[in-house]
Amino acid sequence: MKNFQRYLITAALPYANGPVHIGHLAGVYIPADIYSRYLRLKKEDVIFVCGSDEHGVPITIRAQKEGKTPQEIVDKYHSIIKNSFAEFGINFDIYSRTTNSVHYETASNFFKTIFEKNGFIEKTTENFFDEERQQFLADRYIIGTCPRCGNEKAYGDQCEKCGTSLAPSELLNPHSALSGKPPILKSTKHWYLPLDKFENFLKKWILEEHQEWKPNVYGQCKSWIDSGLQPRAVSRDLNWGVPLPIEEGKGKVLYVWFDAPIGYISATKELTEDWEKYWKSEDTKLVHFIGKDNIVFHCIIFPIMLKMEGSYILPENVPANEFLNLEGEKISTSQNWAVWLHEYLEDFPQKQDVLRYVLTANAPETKDNDFTWKDFQARNNSELVAVLGNFVNRAVVLTHKYFEGKVPQYDSFSDYDKEVLTSFSQIKKNVEENIENFHFREALKEAMNLARIGNKYLADTEPWKIVKTDFLRVQTILYISLQICGNLSLLFEPFLPFTAAKLRKMLNSNEINWENIGKENLLPVNHQIETAELLFAQIEDKEIEKQIEKLHFAKQQRLQQTASQVKSAKQNISYDDFQKIDIRVATVLKAEKVAKTKKLLQLTLDTGIDTRIVVSGIAESYSPEQLIGKQVVILVNLEPREIKGITSQGMILTAEGQNGELCLLSPEKLFMNGAEIK
Ligand SMILES: [Zn+2]
Repeated sequence: MKNFQRYLITAALPYANGPVHIGHLAGVYIPADIYSRYLRLKKEDVIFVCGSDEHGVPITIRAQKEGKTPQEIVDKYHSIIKNSFAEFGINFDIYSRTTNSVHYETASNFFKTIFEKNGFIEKTTENFFDEERQQFLADRYIIGTCPRCGNEKAYGDQCEKCGTSLAPSELLNPHSALSGKPPILKSTKHWYLPLDKFENFLKKWILEEHQEWKPNVYGQCKSWIDSGLQPRAVSRDLNWGVPLPIEEGKGKVLYVWFDAPIGYISATKELTEDWEKYWKSEDTKLVHFIGKDNIVFHCIIFPIMLKMEGSYILPENVPANEFLNLEGEKISTSQNWAVWLHEYLEDFPQKQDVLRYVLTANAPETKDNDFTWKDFQARNNSELVAVLGNFVNRAVVLTHKYFEGKVPQYDSFSDYDKEVLTSFSQIKKNVEENIENFHFREALKEAMNLARIGNKYLADTEPWKIVKTDFLRVQTILYISLQICGNLSLLFEPFLPFTAAKLRKMLNSNEINWENIGKENLLPVNHQIETAELLFAQIEDKEIEKQIEKLHFAKQQRLQQTASQVKSAKQNISYDDFQKIDIRVATVLKAEKVAKTKKLLQLTLDTGIDTRIVVSGIAESYSPEQLIGKQVVILVNLEPREIKGITSQGMILTAEGQNGELCLLSPEKLFMNGAEIK
């Protein structure tokens, strides 16, 4: 292992068109913060940089929708995001933004350097252009009819009704979202980064030299490299972004994916005149903390940019996390299925560390993970309150009760005492190894082990029972308990900084040197401590219920919004017509995928009348395993149809959502197969 002299830590630049939520915190910012706090405690030379990513089309679209300028949008969210991070103790040395002048200059120079080396490929293509507004249209600004489902409001990159991804040229009857007029095709020149030329470099640098990267990161890189890279445009026709710094590029800006990662460099420049030491010296360890959606940019594209520019170091590691889900569903900003940080603090003031704890204990390090409010409550009540808080409180209260708040003189140590005292350095080592290998969940668990040891030690030795008979022994027990408290205040500093500070205050200690964990007399005999203050409080059922209700209220609201877009009713039919339809309750006996199709399942059903086979297009909404044993509703007298060589006898009834997702209908309680639906 190489010995580095300094660390440069970056955390993904959040996109400034919305606030941040728990998924961001769990995936990127808490792990990055733990890592940098730990290195600082070890007295390493560390800088930790981040900032808002403020360019790109989604911001201009948001601005247009809200009747504001893009700058007003990013100003608003930059300050909300910055505040949230500060409130959660994310200890950046700088939180910058990509709309400031240092960044414009840095990004322009970066482009120019590669341009002057003839590093880019130039290509002229035909793009859609709005003649009235005299500007080229980003895909999102072209609206037309979806060729698949007929939705008249499909975007140039995607139809949101059927979910198909589209190219603008596929839309029928395309028109500009700005002027409403049909666009013309006009030729335009752009500059491309020839990623394909760097495949051999990546194979050697990542696949051979960085096999220690996390399997999810390494695996994604390998699959990108194996499937072949394509040149990627670094410029685009837009008026929001860093202007292209060359004459021929007038009216064009850098693509946001190109300018954003340069933001790390700009932020460092803004922070210190010594910035080159961090970016241009092989003695620096550069670590990018990101979410999995950013792997390709930080492991493939940005390193190629750095290499082409030529004067920068490459990242040593990119410990990307997977995603955090919320109550079993994907977190979604647009659908408001999220726990927003600024809202959390309104409901749980001063409880930053509870969230930091839960999100670390349950971090999506190797696979997607789920955050639930019940788990949040359980970890608070049975771990933070019952173990860590309870132990510290007892130790401090008893010290005041028996020794006027002074660390007592110890007598002789029993085997049990010695075992506890020697556990400090083993736990320290375990925490270190885990943090250095980006296993933050394990690291936290190890730190928590010391609190468990302390809690058990007091429960086993019961000083309150022997205080009248063996005062000398009580002195030793509390001496040891206070040493545990002192060590806890150091061990928890990277994970729960607010709690660690509170604990140091209680212990009247300024100790913040990691290497002193396990030191003898960390709190010396006769040292005066302050009075006890509860570190954590119980979270009651009603507080949790309120959060769950709040989430479901938001979900209900968004369903209502969608409901306003439902199709109007069909023409009336006679009762006799309805009578012809025979709908029954049935149970799924068997379900399997129809080979070579995405949507079809072959179901064997007990309809009460018979056992029959139905082919149903529900495979994108249900897996076969979910269906077996389930009761459904079937139209039994539909003429049999041949589908993919299978005779389908009837049709399963489903409700169809706005994006084509299907929901099966079933009887409200277990019911007789063959029961008629009238
Ligand atoms: Zn469509």
